Amino acid sequence: MSNMHLKTAKLFIDGKFIDSKTTEWQDILNPATQEVLGRVPMATLEEVDVAIAAAKQAFKTWHLTPIQARMRIMLKLQDLIRTNMKEIAGVLTAEQGKTLADAEGDIQRGLEVVEHACSVGTLQMGEYIEGVARGVDTYTLQQPLGVCAGITPFNFPAMIPLWMFPMAIVCGNTFVLKPSEQDPLSTMMLVELAAEAGVPAGVLNVVHGGKEVVDRLCTHQDIKAISFVGSTAVGTHVYNLAGQHGKRVQSMMGAKNHVVVMPDAHQEQTLNALVGAAFGAAGQRCMALSVAVMVGETKNWVNQLVEKAKTLKVNAGHEPQTDIGPVISPRAKARVIDLINSGVQEGAELLLDGRDVKVNGYENGNFVGATIFNQVSTSMRIYKEEIFGPVLAIIHVDTLEDAIALINANPFGNGVGLFTQSGAVARTFQNAIDIGQVGINIPIPVPVPFFSFTGSRGSKLGDLGPYGKQAVQFYTQTKTITSRWFEDTQEKGEVNTTISLR
Ligand code: NAD
Repeated sequence: MSNMHLKTAKLFIDGKFIDSKTTEWQDILNPATQEVLGRVPMATLEEVDVAIAAAKQAFKTWHLTPIQARMRIMLKLQDLIRTNMKEIAGVLTAEQGKTLADAEGDIQRGLEVVEHACSVGTLQMGEYIEGVARGVDTYTLQQPLGVCAGITPFNFPAMIPLWMFPMAIVCGNTFVLKPSEQDPLSTMMLVELAAEAGVPAGVLNVVHGGKEVVDRLCTHQDIKAISFVGSTAVGTHVYNLAGQHGKRVQSMMGAKNHVVVMPDAHQEQTLNALVGAAFGAAGQRCMALSVAVMVGETKNWVNQLVEKAKTLKVNAGHEPQTDIGPVISPRAKARVIDLINSGVQEGAELLLDGRDVKVNGYENGNFVGATIFNQVSTSMRIYKEEIFGPVLAIIHVDTLEDAIALINANPFGNGVGLFTQSGAVARTFQNAIDIGQVGINIPIPVPVPFFSFTGSRGSKLGDLGPYGKQAVQFYTQTKTITSRWFEDTQEKGEVNTTISLR
């Protein structure tokens, strides 16, 4: 791989990496140092239109390319990503802030989607039934839609683009990707590998930018479907705007994830899981643990939870032994601090305060240390708003039923966890809880790619998820064929004005 994208993020249009003609650029900053790593263009609308036109043209031949040939490119891509994993992780940590191990995890979770795309053939098969009437058979085709677009957030610059374009293009679509403008460099390395793997010119295109570029994708007549992952406000806007323009849309959005701790849970394992899920990636995961719901006697476990959280090391992501890296930007840090301040003002008990953390050698980094609030109530901002930082709120309830009622009353529905050693309790919980992704003794239940990401309620708009079988449904149109072949050429038949087939 070359380092050609390490300074200026290029556009990728019709198989070529090109410099944008825009006059508007944004710096890409290292969140641990504020060092400028490069810059990203806010592409012009003409450039967006050229990318869409290239994708439209490429679709004409790409959707006719045999599915085995499309899968073979994915096979090559998975090999290239694996080979270049460390190099991509280095860039990802520099621009995003997460630890190197977590950066590799980010790439690995996306890589698994590419692996799954290598066997899409069995998922894109249609259905067939013979003899629905005399000489009449019915069958379905899962046909690609045309040009699809993806809009991705800053927190997983490898995994989330890989949720989208491999499945979209292996199904026979062409694609325009709009990565996060905050950390596009690692995403561009993946795009470079896709080109090297043999994705033909125009099949995958990349434009950079913000609202203007996104709105163009949502309204352009040649875009058939939009996958969005990001905040609730923007995801709702994208869903509404693209929906009004007749597109198929899926928006995976913000969250407030709870874990319920039952008194019979394995204490040590549970507390380790809570600390990892709340503070890993500095809390910047859509599936991060935000609220611990302690049932009954587990209220006595809180001190030990705090002790464990105190041992976490805050440092730059590339430093060895770092547990918590910086949050993405000074603005994100200011938002997290403001929310912590609101928790104090609203009367929550601040057991661990990460506001004033100092990191030697990285005085300019956007660091926030692990923060724990006890005695949180549902009317507080720290309960109601997605914090997207290393902040855990603790709520105490008496029973499992109380915990379920509390969580079901929260508008978000991305992920939830339960810690218990009772199968019966787990079964009651999984049935009664109204959240799309449930972990039983698993704090961050992100499904593997053979399933789909199934966030629900306020965390998602649209029916189908971004990878797995649901992605094949999302990126294809079911066409149903009803055909009749006359085996008896002598038969005359008769005019029939009823609806039945006979
Ligand atoms: P964001 O909504 O700010 O940005 C997402 C994308 O939208 C980016 O590409 C950005 O350039 C673009 N964008 C920003 N403002 C826009 C506007 N006004 N109009 C049109 N487009 C705009 O999100 P983020 O801060 O990058 O990511 C964090 C959010 O993403 C969190 O809320 C997190 O929960 C969510 N997220 C959700 C999932 C999920 O699967 N549900 C996964 C990861 C992240």
